[in-house]
Amino acid sequence: MKKKVGIIGSGISGLSASIRLSNMGYEVHVFEANEYPGGKLTSFKLGDYRFDAGPPLFTMPEYVDELFDLFNENPRDFFNYRKKEIICKYFWQDGKKLTAYSDKRKFFTEVNSEFGVSKKILDQYLSKAKKKYDLTSDLFLKKSLHKLDTFLSIKTIKALSRLSIFEIGKTLSEVNETILKEPHMVQFYNRYATYNGSSPYSTPGIMTVIQHLESHYGTYIPEGGMHSITKSLYELAKRKGVIFNFKKLVSEIILEKNKATGLIVNGKKLSFDTVISNMDIYPTYEKLLPKIRLPRNVKYQERSSSAVIFYWGISKIFKNLDLHNVFFSKDYQSEFDSIFIQKNIYDDPTIYVNITSKEIITDSPENCENWFVMVNTCADNGQNWDLEVKKLKKIVLERLEKTLGESIVPFIEQEKIFTPKTIEERTKSYKGSLYGTSSNNLFSAFLRHPNFSRKIQNLYFCGGSVHPGGGIPLCLLSAKITTELINKS
Ligand SMILES: Cc1cc2nc3c(=O)[nH]c(=O)nc-3n(C[C@H](O)[C@H](O)[C@H](O)COP(=O)(O)OP(=O)(O)OC[C@H]3O[C@@H](n4cnc5c(N)ncnc54)[C@H](O)[C@@H]3O)c2cc1C
Repeated sequence: MKKKVGIIGSGISGLSASIRLSNMGYEVHVFEANEYPGGKLTSFKLGDYRFDAGPPLFTMPEYVDELFDLFNENPRDFFNYRKKEIICKYFWQDGKKLTAYSDKRKFFTEVNSEFGVSKKILDQYLSKAKKKYDLTSDLFLKKSLHKLDTFLSIKTIKALSRLSIFEIGKTLSEVNETILKEPHMVQFYNRYATYNGSSPYSTPGIMTVIQHLESHYGTYIPEGGMHSITKSLYELAKRKGVIFNFKKLVSEIILEKNKATGLIVNGKKLSFDTVISNMDIYPTYEKLLPKIRLPRNVKYQERSSSAVIFYWGISKIFKNLDLHNVFFSKDYQSEFDSIFIQKNIYDDPTIYVNITSKEIITDSPENCENWFVMVNTCADNGQNWDLEVKKLKKIVLERLEKTLGESIVPFIEQEKIFTPKTIEERTKSYKGSLYGTSSNNLFSAFLRHPNFSRKIQNLYFCGGSVHPGGGIPLCLLSAKITTELINKS
């Protein structure tokens, strides 16, 4: 008899866990509240425009590929992507611009000519980031941080012996200011804190590992858009026998003598040997484990940032834009203070514009573009989002029109808007945060919830709100850690 696993949620991490467990010989049942898989990583259409609803940036595609490798399938038969030559275009309000090329030499030349930062300094900065990653990735990202044997290794001793390189006494911004000095480049590298929903003025200096990953390994665009990651993994899971149940809300995890023994789904009791929650950890405790006290770390750890997203179908082509475009705020520190301290909507925000039709022509009608325009905000704090969205839309359009020197408003022919509230409604992420909890603290990695329950046997967790954190690559690693723990148990 195969052991039965019940997975709550088909986010990218839940899908990945289902594939891994099926490969390990388990009978896997996934319960998803929505009528579609993918959680945040989904897609929708507005007229003839296609939009990725959630994550627009794809890095570390090998973590997707390795799921096909498990079954000796060639990932290229099912899932394809291209490396981007231009990673992102940046625009400052003082008129400065930067094209971030994936070719390092070209990028260094561009930075040197625009901002006078020498190639030597950039090289030193990124080499140090690489060292931090090489010393810590196996420890912090690829294993449970909450098991002793993770730390009883040569790698830990090696990492500890190089402690000063991690710059843990400084914030990311302090590290960037010390080395780069030039304000535009400090802001450029500070922005990477947003890749895990944090503030560069609080997150520790070790986080330069994020820019290392982007500049060293590059960024990618999946053929068919980001949603094809979900689609291809969902199809793979189905081929390998995973049983999906859509429009099935799990309302409780059944416990018997501190052991998870099943799930209540649409009022029906179902038995499982093992349970995994891919639901955000906060509502997992609050809603599915009503008799278990919410752990202190889950209750008090700061949520990551959220976002307001405008999805616009635009009947015009903007030649100066690429797939990824960033329009910076004037005062970055005030922007992050507003997100994490005042918890209000900043009136001069950084604006990110993603246009997949630049790469995938079928994503919009001819001579049109599909704009995904995102502004990072605080997680939901009870704001009147209708009011905030109205104000924000005016600010965003005025700034984009001014910077680009072109009118936009008359060309918007389709519109949909997501707020932190919409994100919470669609994915059950507590307060609509994009990445679970923030990393605005030296100890965030340790405070994030483990991939297993210390109190309840046979209960595990995966996804952006538990170790090692949010973002597609980390969610895929989270599923790997969780399933390895289950296999060892
Ligand atoms: C706007 C936006 C932009 C982002 N940008 C990027 C980016 O550029 N790059 C990047 O790497 N990451 C980005 N992220 C983060 C990334 O999308 C997430 O970290 C990742 O997709 C989270 O996956 P997950 O597996 O944790 O589950 P989620 O996607 O959160 O899915 C959880 C699933 O569980 C289901 N569920 C919850 N509770 C229940 C229940 N009780 N019963 C049944 N089903 C339930 C939900 O319906 C949902 O489908 C972004 C996120 C958003 C929203």
